[in-house]
Amino acid sequence: MIKNEQQEIVVVAKEISTSVEPTNGEINTPSSVVSNSVVSNTDSSNEEGSNTPRETAPKPRHNKKPRYNKEKANQETNQEGNQENEQENNQENGEQEAPLPRKKPVHNKRKNNPNNEFPENDNSAVAWTSDLKKANAINEKSHRDRLNPHYKLNLNTNAKIRITPLGGLDEIGGNMMVIETDKSAIILDVGMSFPDENMHGVDILIPDFSYLREIKHKIVGIVLTHGHEDHIGAMPYLFKEMQFPVYGTPLPLEMIGAKFDEHKMREHRRYFRAIEKRVAYKIGDFEVEWMHITHSIIDSSALAIKTEAGTIIHTGDFKIDHTPIDGFPTDLHRLAYHGENGVLLLMSDSTNSHTVGFTKSEKTVGPTFDNLFAKAKGRVIMSTFSSNIHRVSQAIEYGLKYGRKVCVIGRSMEKNLELAMRLGYIKFPKDQFIDAHEVHKYEDKEILIITTGSQGEAMSALYRMSIHEHRHIKIKEGDQIILSARAIPGNEASVSTIINHLLKAGAKVAYQDFSEIHVSGHAAQEEQKLMLRLVKPKFFLPVHGEYNHALKHSQTAVDCGVLERNIHVMSDGEQIEVTPKYLKKVKTVKTGKIYIDNQLNHKIADDVVLDRQTMANEGVVMIVAQINENDRKMVQMPRVRSFGLVPDKQDKIFSTEIEELLELFLTNCKPGVFKNNKIFEDEVRKVVRKHCVRKYKKYPMIVPTLFVQ
Ligand SMILES: [Zn+2]
Ligand SMILES: [Zn+2]
Repeated sequence: MIKNEQQEIVVVAKEISTSVEPTNGEINTPSSVVSNSVVSNTDSSNEEGSNTPRETAPKPRHNKKPRYNKEKANQETNQEGNQENEQENNQENGEQEAPLPRKKPVHNKRKNNPNNEFPENDNSAVAWTSDLKKANAINEKSHRDRLNPHYKLNLNTNAKIRITPLGGLDEIGGNMMVIETDKSAIILDVGMSFPDENMHGVDILIPDFSYLREIKHKIVGIVLTHGHEDHIGAMPYLFKEMQFPVYGTPLPLEMIGAKFDEHKMREHRRYFRAIEKRVAYKIGDFEVEWMHITHSIIDSSALAIKTEAGTIIHTGDFKIDHTPIDGFPTDLHRLAYHGENGVLLLMSDSTNSHTVGFTKSEKTVGPTFDNLFAKAKGRVIMSTFSSNIHRVSQAIEYGLKYGRKVCVIGRSMEKNLELAMRLGYIKFPKDQFIDAHEVHKYEDKEILIITTGSQGEAMSALYRMSIHEHRHIKIKEGDQIILSARAIPGNEASVSTIINHLLKAGAKVAYQDFSEIHVSGHAAQEEQKLMLRLVKPKFFLPVHGEYNHALKHSQTAVDCGVLERNIHVMSDGEQIEVTPKYLKKVKTVKTGKIYIDNQLNHKIADDVVLDRQTMANEGVVMIVAQINENDRKMVQMPRVRSFGLVPDKQDKIFSTEIEELLELFLTNCKPGVFKNNKIFEDEVRKVVRKHCVRKYKKYPMIVPTLFVQ
């Protein structure tokens, strides 16, 4: 059943791909109007000379003048039609001077020279080729045309696209976005994020799905860029509520599959639709094409989303690694192809917007590993992000090179490595792997341990090894630890803690002392520029990052020729409408975070988390009292207990304060207050709170239990 569905999809996809990708790769360009024959191709305004091999170029067709003129006329009509756009493009380029006159052919002489050969002895032709000022002007125009292919966008369309980020902006993590037309909508990534230290007992955060509920009827699918948690982590929680077909490359799908298995919702795997890169898939009103991109997890993609309003490119998370471990660099050609055809909108990864230069290739980590492995006398213990399969595979490679057995410890590390080997992304001899309980059978210099904990997580295997709480492995003198990662913002303190534990246990720790012990998975400024130059978008929305990252990225975009007024720095919940004519914010939808308890795998109500915050930060006061309504007196002494507010030895004083407070309140309050217990308790709460704020500068949680008789 699943297989049939997938086959169907592929068939449809092939059809689409042929229908949307003309063989010569050109759509609606001035030159394509005349490119039906080789002759007209050489006649076209391509001043740099045709690449058509001379041998295959037919003889000059001077005798077929009428047809030639007709083609030229077509070309000019087309150019006129685009004049409005081109003027706009000239403005976009910051050009103040008037565009070159369109109707005056400035290079007529060459029109009669189908092979673009320079007529050495033809004096009549020299007029043009020797007028260098004119030649320069022509070339300038050629530059403007190539830099702004936006005249290829259809300005006459009424099609509108709406884009709504529901997570991933103003924050790191929780990436999710909706792209919609009037009739259909796709969800781009469904990620999770991590709580801060004030969210007690919360394991992960997922985006608020309220807006999805609102437009559920028109959602036609989920499209995935890659398998990082901040892009797929919330999938099980979405699927508990609503299900749609999920399109993506095999690795992210299998990673979601593993989550579905854990959540006992294996049957939802039937929604998976594995795609082939470079093929366009019809999904509702959209044609979505996945393009290979390099990142710190394998099998990542950028997306080209064709819509009636124009093509939208979403980079996903990326860097531009020319020497990736698997030999599959970013598909620059495909990005350039779309750029050349005119891109309406680019959304690009802003994470490293402040980093100048290029992010180094994953391959640069290899020599650092080699160096450390060569010198290590005892065990080598390498820790990195478990999803960074290429980093792990580099470590394994050097481990095997130096005759070490490989022991993988840590649930997520074991799971991801097994998955990558099972799907065929990496290949290693199975007999070189050993279990944790076998480590003691080998000499120290024959052991490589690969494990989790590079962020100092207190539950991680490395942390437990460092404080001697791991069942099989205890860190000892002679161990060489390699922390091949950088602390994610917010984790610096815990990384520092684990390093202290490792050093105390006698190990050597290699962390940031080598610049190439870890490389980022995100594009630095020069790569962001390359992306902007390849795609040449009319509009630009920086995504994936905090506000300051997105703002910096928008500056880079201006430097690369995008008009400032064509850029918007979005926040979560802002709905942006884009057409070939404009990009603007139209409304704001509900967004936020839902708290998840990983032990129970379901959500924690907001008020529970708020109560926990209040109790942790401000303390608790509990009051039990019995009141006689007639004489407005307490029947006996109230019982007052407080936690986290005053020291135990002051409990009695505090108790007396509250008692006096209640007595005063009972004498002065309105008689009606006793009729409704809820109102009565609220009033008491107010009085006690006022006292606590005045005297202790705290807002404790106040729990009155009052009996009226
Ligand atoms: Zn990400
Ligand atoms: Zn990522």
